[in-house]
Amino acid sequence: MAYTVQQIKTMIIKELQETLGTTPDKASDAQFYKATVPVVKEILEEKRRHFMSQSRSQGKKQVYYLCMEFLLGRSLKNSLSNLCMVESFQQALGELDVKLDNLYEYEPDAGLGNGGLGRLAACYMDALATDGYPAMGYSILYEYGIFKQQIIDGWQNELPDYWLPGGEVWLTPMPEHAVEVRFGGQVSESWDHNYHNVEYKGYSSVMAVPYDICISGYNTKAVSRLRLWKAKSTGFNMELFNKGEYSSVLGEGMMGEAISKVLYPNDNHREGKALRLRQQYFLTAASIADIVRRHIETYGTLDNLPEKNAIHLNDTHPTLAIPELMRILLDECGYSWEHAYHIVSATFAYTNHTVMPEALEVWNIDLFRSLLPRIYQIICEMNARLCAELYDAHHLQSEQVARMAILTDRDIRMANLAVAVCHSVNGVSKLHSEILKDEVFHDFYTLTPQKFGNVTNGIASRRWLHQSNPGLSSLCAELLGENYLNDMDSLRGLQKYRDDSSVLERLAAIKRQNKQSLSDYLVRHGGAALNVDSIFDVQVKRMHEYKRQHLNALRILSLYQYLKANPNADFTPRTFIFGAKAAPGYFLAKQIIKLICTMRDMIERDESVRDKLRIVYLEDYRVTLSEILMPASEVSEQISLAGTEASGTSNMKFMLSGAITLGTMDGANVEIYDEVGADNIVIFGMTTAEVSALRQKGYSAHEIYGKNATLRAAVDMLKNGINGEQFMDIYNSLVFKDPYMVFADFDSYLEASKKTASLYTDTRRWQQMSLQNTACSGIFCADRSIREYARNIWKLDEPSAR
Ligand SMILES: *Cc1c(COP(=O)(O)O)cnc(C)c1O
Repeated sequence: MAYTVQQIKTMIIKELQETLGTTPDKASDAQFYKATVPVVKEILEEKRRHFMSQSRSQGKKQVYYLCMEFLLGRSLKNSLSNLCMVESFQQALGELDVKLDNLYEYEPDAGLGNGGLGRLAACYMDALATDGYPAMGYSILYEYGIFKQQIIDGWQNELPDYWLPGGEVWLTPMPEHAVEVRFGGQVSESWDHNYHNVEYKGYSSVMAVPYDICISGYNTKAVSRLRLWKAKSTGFNMELFNKGEYSSVLGEGMMGEAISKVLYPNDNHREGKALRLRQQYFLTAASIADIVRRHIETYGTLDNLPEKNAIHLNDTHPTLAIPELMRILLDECGYSWEHAYHIVSATFAYTNHTVMPEALEVWNIDLFRSLLPRIYQIICEMNARLCAELYDAHHLQSEQVARMAILTDRDIRMANLAVAVCHSVNGVSKLHSEILKDEVFHDFYTLTPQKFGNVTNGIASRRWLHQSNPGLSSLCAELLGENYLNDMDSLRGLQKYRDDSSVLERLAAIKRQNKQSLSDYLVRHGGAALNVDSIFDVQVKRMHEYKRQHLNALRILSLYQYLKANPNADFTPRTFIFGAKAAPGYFLAKQIIKLICTMRDMIERDESVRDKLRIVYLEDYRVTLSEILMPASEVSEQISLAGTEASGTSNMKFMLSGAITLGTMDGANVEIYDEVGADNIVIFGMTTAEVSALRQKGYSAHEIYGKNATLRAAVDMLKNGINGEQFMDIYNSLVFKDPYMVFADFDSYLEASKKTASLYTDTRRWQQMSLQNTACSGIFCADRSIREYARNIWKLDEPSAR
């Protein structure tokens, strides 16, 4: 299946002529992009067919990864790089006078996700293929992805992200596998001897049509497939039409198609709306039907479903897959409850992604029952049996049963449903998995400790190193051998250059070049040039109080005041770079964006500090921007309140590029600390134990505010005005509530920040720290995470050799 340059060239020309109606001499770069993608797609699809027929003939267990979000970013460079075909395409296009690098810019980010959760799912599709496992991801084909962010006058403005014009070239429609999904209506039951009949009437239905994207692994035979469902109206309600109700006919169709219209833009926050519930059932019902069909086609029975398939629930969003599979086994295949439950439990595994109560999903019973009456009955039965077992077999007290129940008198608790049924429950970092066992799911843990485990998140390291940071990647290849990309643990080999001045100097030069490239990029996009001798101190992630961008802002205000009071102080210039989208309905998060932008403007006007402090707020932070940013970063801000960030993955991307983490002992920061050692990371703030102790004792932000003059001076600027603007909502929230204990960690953060700057002035020392961070980042490669899922949770067969 090797393709020569000549073949690739011929395929591209054919595509230009037959699909785009043009010729190489007339085609624009945009047309070349649209002609090149189908060629890559064809290569991937052929490879996938080959791999799947092999794995099917070997009867291999399949992995199905269900997630409401896949934040893919761009695919062209990633696909070619993973296929090891960059040079061939460069040459083929070069012979047609086209630069491959220019084509990349025509691809929009596929932003079918909010942040870390969706990006994780995308990284895992890549790693599943790289590790050689047969896998399929399922999600929704949102017509509009995560909104495009504009900053106007410091305020966030949201624009729709209509990504399909440049993105749909990647999609292969599979109309022959469309599935009907049903909503509303009534259920009636009857008993026919021992056979339970369920009749479902008066429902409305919508078709789920699959569109597939192939995702290549690195240097492997395997290709993963992501199947995205698009909602299509079932056509025409003839009955209404004949009554002359034309607008209802159209309205019904539009209601159905609205399901896949737009991604909900909330990160770590639930949205209890009917449309969101429809989306969740739409994804799960279509995916389960597809999985069942594929399995039956091969094996002709569902008895062995768990032996041949692992279905993974990435967070609680797709948990309805559990009662949906029960429904199929009970109502359509006639299994007994016990047998069906056994199959379901052995098939599903669940990953939890948050412990924050406002993010744990619950559905109002009345809404749920009217939309999904049969699924509601099944959940009631599951709840009744669970509670009976807890009372009768485990002799639990009623408060404990009430905590563990799936139903309350008002709500359905999706996390309890997932934990009660799945055979495996895991968190996404060591710390987070401990919190699940000790707190959130403690009752379940006591009963079934064997269910609980941990798989620390990972990233598609090659995307952020080899593809985004070519300078560092070629140094690694030179020092470690060309094969280092096959096994990211081999980065460890860099450690032996710790005292090699020439390597350290080359590392410094690469970082400087990357900083210059970022600056050039910003200039090309209408910004000002950056001072590449300043420290690039970066916090990019969703805007959220728990992530504490406002703690960072208060630190900068404090530095500002210090520089005003000490104009001649010895001070290493800093560039503070922020990038974050706020959920459109999240008032305080939007205020924090405005605050940071206002601080930026204040500093910009002030000649006495603007050469020492600089704030840059990057508009529309997204995967592609992170790829430009990570290689240029020097300080990685990971400053969430301990116990709130489940893992974090940007911390891993930064580390890989040699940035030093300035962070709390939260999420995967703890494991980064364990890997690099205390001398190569700057840790500050309370531990989770200290946070709990302070909560117990009673936390008063106001008291700290009263005692700490430095803090008070910075906080008072919010009230007294920055550039003439007050920020009373942030001020009041911090001084009178401070739910994420910003004030409690303020002093320690300031101290750690000072320490970071002083380490930076020792250039050699800093380069050694940086080298150590890259060298120790192999464990955070998603390939390792997927191997752990495969062995410990999905129990997959050994992968085929590369
Ligand atoms: C990696 C990534 C994230 C996750 O960042 P965290 O700091 O771990 O929350 C969010 N958004 C994008 C675009 C990313 O690439």
